[in-house]
Amino acid sequence: MTISAIVWGENIHEQNNRDVASHYPDGLHGCIAAALNTDTAIEATTATLQEAEHGLTEDRLAETDVLLWWGHAAHDQVCDAVVDRICEAVWSGMGMIFLHSAHFSKPFKRLMGTSCNLTWREAGERERLWIANRNHPITKGLPDSFELENEEMYGEPFGVPEPLETVFISWFQGGEVFRSGLTYKRGAGSVFYFRPGHETYPTYHDGNVQAVLRNAVHWAFNPQPRVADITVGRNVPAERAPETIEQRGPVLHSDGKLDAG
Ligand code: ZN
Repeated sequence: MTISAIVWGENIHEQNNRDVASHYPDGLHGCIAAALNTDTAIEATTATLQEAEHGLTEDRLAETDVLLWWGHAAHDQVCDAVVDRICEAVWSGMGMIFLHSAHFSKPFKRLMGTSCNLTWREAGERERLWIANRNHPITKGLPDSFELENEEMYGEPFGVPEPLETVFISWFQGGEVFRSGLTYKRGAGSVFYFRPGHETYPTYHDGNVQAVLRNAVHWAFNPQPRVADITVGRNVPAERAPETIEQRGPVLHSDGKLDAG
C-alpha cells in the first residue's frame, strides 16, 4: 500500500529571498516531497498557497492520507473555507504534520484551540534534538540525539495543549529548551508538530530531519476509511430512542428548526 502525502508550501520566501532560494531551488515543499519520495511506500506531491483553493480541493484532500504544512509569512492569506475543509479531513482520519512556523498557521491554531505562542530568536545557533520517547515509531532509526548546526531558536513556554506524546525535546546553544516533537489526536486524525525548519537554513536537507518526516508520515497514516459524519450532530427525540422512554419536561427544540441539543 502506498501512502499518499501532500507537502503544502506557502512558497513566498523561496521567491523573494536569495538565501532561501539557494537552499531550496525547488521550494521548501519540493525539497520535503523529494525526501519523502525516497521511501517507496510514500507518494508525495506538493501544493502551494498560490494555486486555486491553495491546491487543496475537496477531491484532492479526500484522496490524501497525510498533509504536511509549512507556512510563515502569509498565514492570514489562507482561505477559511480551506481551513474548515482541512480540519474536517483531520477529524475524519487524515493525518497532518505541521512544520516549524506552521505553529501559527490557521489549521494548527484551529486544531489546538490555544494561542500557540512561543519565544524565538534568529541567531543561527546550534540546536540539539533529544529523543524523549525512544520506542516511538517516529524515532525509528535515529540516534539518541542529533544536531542542527544553524537553526532559529524556539523556546518555552509553548502555548499548546498538553500533547498526547512528547517525542523530541530541543536544546539551543543560547540555553533555551523546547518541546520540538509533539503528537495529538484530533477526532480520528493523528497530528504531529515538528519544530526545525527555519527557511534560511538547509534543515530539510539533513538526513535525520528527513528520517523524522518519513517516519511521521507512516505514523500519521490511518488505513481506516474516513468517517465524515462524526462531526454532524443530530437530534434523537424520545420516540426514536433505542429503549422505550417517557417524554418528560419541556422540549425546547420541538419545532425542528434547531438540531443542536
Ligand atoms: Zn523560522
